Amino acid sequence: MTIALKQRISQLLSSILFNSAFSGFITGSIYQGKFKYLPCPGFNCHSCPSALLACPIGAIQLFVSFGAYHVSFYLLGFLGSIGAVGGRIVCGWACPFGLMQDMLYRIRLPKIKVPEIMRKMKFFILFFVVLGVAYYTKEPWFCKFCPMGTLEAGIPLVSMNADLLQLTGWLFCLKISILAGFAVWMTVSKRPFCQTVCPLGAIYSFFNKISFLRLKVNKKKCIKCNLCADVCPVDIKIYQEGGGSANCIRCFRCTKCPAEAIKITFNTTLQH
Ligand code: SF4
Ligand code: SF4
Repeated sequence: MTIALKQRISQLLSSILFNSAFSGFITGSIYQGKFKYLPCPGFNCHSCPSALLACPIGAIQLFVSFGAYHVSFYLLGFLGSIGAVGGRIVCGWACPFGLMQDMLYRIRLPKIKVPEIMRKMKFFILFFVVLGVAYYTKEPWFCKFCPMGTLEAGIPLVSMNADLLQLTGWLFCLKISILAGFAVWMTVSKRPFCQTVCPLGAIYSFFNKISFLRLKVNKKKCIKCNLCADVCPVDIKIYQEGGGSANCIRCFRCTKCPAEAIKITFNTTLQH
């Protein structure tokens, strides 16, 4: 079985598992059982009728807005543990929104790369919008415009509840426009949301240099064939950026390097 196929199966099973409270789609309500106390490792809206777990980004905003100490050590510990083991591995193997982006990119259309400068934007979103704006306004502003929230929660809940449908206005239209804009972008660029916006990916990316499981690139062995960049779902040249790149989502597709310059390693030392 190829790495790509294993990755797809893992993404699909994770997406089903994170959204296995199926009865919500019959009742038109949100699951609020005890599993909602657990954070979801991937990017998945907790207001989706079938969402079993809590979105960590939604939860972080609630804590910075209303938490007694403006921080949840439970959440930090959860995300930190995952990051310490595999860096951004969840982005590559278990994120429902990542799967959707990978699928939309398969549509045969002319392709364009995400500009390098836009990759830094996710850190601005994390620190300014998710932490700063939520703290000062006491409102989860990122959730209000999150395209995953619109797709998984806004559209199904509004279509199943006549009362909510009557309440939709300019904000809902703006949310739909943002989702549509990203959906179009996803057909022509590799994972534009992961590369430019995702605050969860930004958090995990801090661990890519120090995680236990990581990529090791031997630049001396590399013959610059560019095969690793061609198969990379986030369009990076790992032989230039190095195995600890914050942009790498640890899908491991590039380990099929013909010069055997890229290896998966298990380390306890810092990486440059
Ligand atoms: S696939 Fe291997 S040899 Fe080719 S550019 Fe990437 S690291 Fe270098
Ligand atoms: S550099 Fe390799 S492991 Fe990282 S995202 Fe690209 S293909 Fe996957």
